[in-house]
Amino acid sequence: MKHHSLLLAALALAAAASLPVMAQTTRVLSPDGLTYLDVKFADGQLSYSAGYRTIAKAKKKGAKADTLDVPMVLDSPLGVYTNVADFSKDLTLKETIRHEGTIKHSYHLRQGKQSEINSEENGLGLVLTTPQRRNGGVIMTVQFAVFNNNIAYRYRFLQGGETGAIVITGEASGFRLPTDATAFICQQSDPMVGWKRTKPSYEEGYIWDEPVTKRSQSGQGWTFPCLFHEGDKGWLLISETGVSSNYCASHLSDATPDGLFTIAFPMEGENNGFGSTGAQIGLGNSNTNANDDMTGYTPWRTITLGPTLKPIVETTIVWDVVEPLYEPSIDYQGSRNTWSWILWQDPSINYEDQIKYIDLAAALGWEGCLIDGGWYEHIGREGMEKLFAYCKQKGVRPWVWYNSNGAWNDAPQCARQAMHNSIVRKKEMKWLRDGGVAGIKVDFFAGDKQETMRVYEGILSDANDYGIQCIFHGCTLPRGWERMYPNYCSSEAVLASENLYFSQGFCEQEARHACLHPFVRNTVASMEYGGTVLQKRLHKEPGKGNTRRTSDVFELATAIAFQSSGQNFALTPRNLTEQPQFEIDFMKQVPTTWDETRFIDGYPGKYIVLARRHGTRWYVAAMNAEPAAKQLSLDLRVLDGFHIESATLLTDGPDGQTPQQTTAKPDKKGLIQLTLQPQCAAVLF
Ligand code: CA
Repeated sequence: MKHHSLLLAALALAAAASLPVMAQTTRVLSPDGLTYLDVKFADGQLSYSAGYRTIAKAKKKGAKADTLDVPMVLDSPLGVYTNVADFSKDLTLKETIRHEGTIKHSYHLRQGKQSEINSEENGLGLVLTTPQRRNGGVIMTVQFAVFNNNIAYRYRFLQGGETGAIVITGEASGFRLPTDATAFICQQSDPMVGWKRTKPSYEEGYIWDEPVTKRSQSGQGWTFPCLFHEGDKGWLLISETGVSSNYCASHLSDATPDGLFTIAFPMEGENNGFGSTGAQIGLGNSNTNANDDMTGYTPWRTITLGPTLKPIVETTIVWDVVEPLYEPSIDYQGSRNTWSWILWQDPSINYEDQIKYIDLAAALGWEGCLIDGGWYEHIGREGMEKLFAYCKQKGVRPWVWYNSNGAWNDAPQCARQAMHNSIVRKKEMKWLRDGGVAGIKVDFFAGDKQETMRVYEGILSDANDYGIQCIFHGCTLPRGWERMYPNYCSSEAVLASENLYFSQGFCEQEARHACLHPFVRNTVASMEYGGTVLQKRLHKEPGKGNTRRTSDVFELATAIAFQSSGQNFALTPRNLTEQPQFEIDFMKQVPTTWDETRFIDGYPGKYIVLARRHGTRWYVAAMNAEPAAKQLSLDLRVLDGFHIESATLLTDGPDGQTPQQTTAKPDKKGLIQLTLQPQCAAVLF
């Protein structure tokens, strides 16, 4: 916590003694002066509001520029409920500490949307106490970080008396939006429902551009991240980061009729009803330098806002405010994997079919092959060891599926009872490492309770000891994990490609979802979608299964648009002979790790133009989900070092059904003109 240490040390000192403050509003501006946060203390309660400022040029030389506040989060409550005291009311504000100068965050992110990140914040800290005599001297601090277009805050509880540990039972933390704002949000599922009682797993449908006051069908509220549109004022994204074994993961309640969403803790029924819905935390020490003391913190709540969608798509806030929790044991790499299960399903989890998919990975020059659930019964450990040896011979790294269970749901697939505690895990990890396995995919987790966060962290930490990466499915949203856990790879936490196989209705919606994810789910976390389907029909047998509605180039474009350092692509052995060669050539060279991500144009669920850079090469995906052809006039000169004149252009042809490779031809103004048919795309690289 280097960057925050000065502020925290100051908070700790201030906690000791100072005069109470009756009422005050403190404004913090972002380093560029355009994002504001107002923190208000009045009548023993803490609240905040936030937005951005527009600055009109001064009319006369030397005159002051006119600034105008554009509020996006209206006066919203702060505070925490604990088992020793209610820290949402009757508070005494002991101290307000402004961090002098900006706090800089410079770090390398191996596996996110950007590799070298330099961001800056202005910081503010508050120290508060409650009057209760029986709270054991517990002190609450609130830490605010205001970045350009991004705001984060978290609480920390410090020991000021006898009490050394508390239980957080809930939070008053809220987000009040104007009632005419609209929402792109995904509801939280009821617990212990769905297939083999495996929900919630962040696989519900979205509401699209609907009023913020709409109630969720389940009545359980909405999962992070949550995207909101405030008309001409702009866009707002709310999420959460820094959730480790030290806390539960939370979500948003339904909004009140006047537009207030509040932080909601896990549901009682999650994890088969076992474990607390709250968080058990140790208190930080207010008498020592807080440098290495990680205790007492809650996760960060994050807000990204601005007049356009650019800050939403390009945000790095969820990584800026967290730190690695351990060192990587090896130099982890991104991986493109073949994956038989997605189109050949359960019957393909046998030795012979896995050989075919290892051969496919080798033919494509990909790094890995994922052997999915059912291997324990149908291939067995000896058979797996033979497959591992075959992988080695072919230069392909195996990835292996596990059931996280245990004890928390009815998911039957094996291997089970191998990931739920550290004793069995370490034994399993050793076997995997000895077999040259690069990573595991662990499925069917039990929700958002702290109890389950401890399972995730235990798997990640043990896997790192054996040089193994982790993908999670049937799982929660990862919250800052790409940076916190160096061997973390990716998570599902989305209605993913398996639904194309299961439902024609989902195929009809594929383009729409694909043009939503870069703005919401995928902008705050890696998304293991398992996409790029090149077969027209979703089945092992020709002529069977659901029909894909998107074009070939649309599917290729998802390999750029969907960010995940490990991608389990849905290519099949048939694709090698049935597809145009340039499609296969593209998939042979598309990377999965990115140095830079730039938003060019788009609207959630309608269309997107997104550019990502790997090394010196830019990849641009332009995708249309609207029912009519889309005319785009793109200025790609904003991409540093992109040579448009020599770029390769993949399109679906004028009819949307004739995939072709040409070279990009900018017009006289240097713009690229594209016409995208419905559910079609263009790729430039
Ligand atoms: Ca799933």
